[in-house]
Amino acid sequence: MEPSLLPVEILEAQQDFPMALAACKDLDGLLRLKGAYIGREGSHAARLMELLKAAPKEQKRELGAAINALKNQWEETIKARQVELENAKKRAAALGNTWDPDLPAPMPAQGSLHPLNRLIDRLVDVFRPLGYHVEEGPEAETEAHNFDGLNIPVDHPARGSADTFYFEKHPGLLLRTHTSPVQVRTLLRLAPHIKEKGGIRFLAPGRVYRKDEIDPTHSPMFHQVEGMLVGHGVGMHHLKGTLAYAMKALFGPGADIRFRPSYFPFVEPGCEVDVRCPLCGGSGCRVCKQSGWVELLGAGLVHPNVLEYAGIDPGEWSGFAFGMGVERIAMMVSQTPDLRFFFENDQRFLKTMGGLD
Ligand SMILES: [Zn+2]
Repeated sequence: MEPSLLPVEILEAQQDFPMALAACKDLDGLLRLKGAYIGREGSHAARLMELLKAAPKEQKRELGAAINALKNQWEETIKARQVELENAKKRAAALGNTWDPDLPAPMPAQGSLHPLNRLIDRLVDVFRPLGYHVEEGPEAETEAHNFDGLNIPVDHPARGSADTFYFEKHPGLLLRTHTSPVQVRTLLRLAPHIKEKGGIRFLAPGRVYRKDEIDPTHSPMFHQVEGMLVGHGVGMHHLKGTLAYAMKALFGPGADIRFRPSYFPFVEPGCEVDVRCPLCGGSGCRVCKQSGWVELLGAGLVHPNVLEYAGIDPGEWSGFAFGMGVERIAMMVSQTPDLRFFFENDQRFLKTMGGLD
C-alpha cells in the first residue's frame, strides 16, 4: 500500500484502531467503533469511498485496492471481537454473573455422591449393624482369584475371551467379571484367624466388567455388592433370614422375598432371590412385568471347594454368599428404564434421583 495515497486522518485512524478495539469492553462500545470505522455514513470507510470516487483515473486501481484491504481488515477484526464479546456475555449470563455489586455472590454448584454410590452406601449401612465390614479387591484380577478359587471349571464359558476382558500383554490377568474374587482374597487373608474370630462376615461392593454390548439393560461395566458369612452350622435359613431383613430395611417393612433354585459354581445349593415388587406391592406393573416379583440377586451356601481353596475346613465351617447388581436395584427403585442414564452424567438426571435417597 502507498501510504501517500491515503489522507493523514485515515492513517491516524488506522494507527488508533488496535487501541480503540481493545478499549471496547462491551457490545455497545464495539457498535460505536463499528459505526465510526465502517458505518454507511460519516465513517472512515465512507470517507475513503468518497475519496476513491474523486480520485484521478490513474490512481483508482491502486487506491481502490488499498481501501479494500483496509476495510476488510477492519470488518474482520471487528467481527471477531464481536463474537468474543457475545460469547463472554453468554458466559456471564449463564453464570448469573452480570455486574451488579449489590447482588449477593453467585453460589457455586454443590457436588454430591453419584446415585449408585449413594445406593451402595445404603446397602453397606443395612448390613453394618449385622456385623458386616467392607472388603475391597483389585479390578484387574488374576484368573486364580476370579475363577479357580471359586470352583469355576476350566472349560466354563465365562472364562472365554468372548465374555471376559483379558490383558493381552499380561497372561493370567483380567478385568474381574464379578466381585466374588474378593471372597477368595478375604477368605485367604482371614483363614488363619477364623477360629479366634469365630467366623467371617463382610460386604464387597465394586465395579465389574463383562463383554456386553451397551443397551438399556447391559453395560460392559457395572456394579455389584457381594456379601459373605462363614461360621458354624450356617444354613439356607440363615441366608433367608439375613436377606429378608436386608430387603425390609431397603424397601420397607412390606418387602417379601422368595427363593428359586439356581446354579452358580461357587455355591451349593444355589438360588436366585426375588423380592416382591416394591412398586406395585405384588399386584403387577411394568417394572415387574406384571409378575409381582423382581429378580434381585444370586445366592447360596458356599461350595466346600471354595472354603478348601482358602484353607478353611468345610467339615467344620460353612457359610452363605450373595451377590446383587447395583444398577438393577437402582433402576427398580428409581423407575429408570435405561441403565445408560447412570453413566452419562447428565446433571438433570443426577439431580432428580430422589428415589435413591
Ligand atoms: Zn410391580
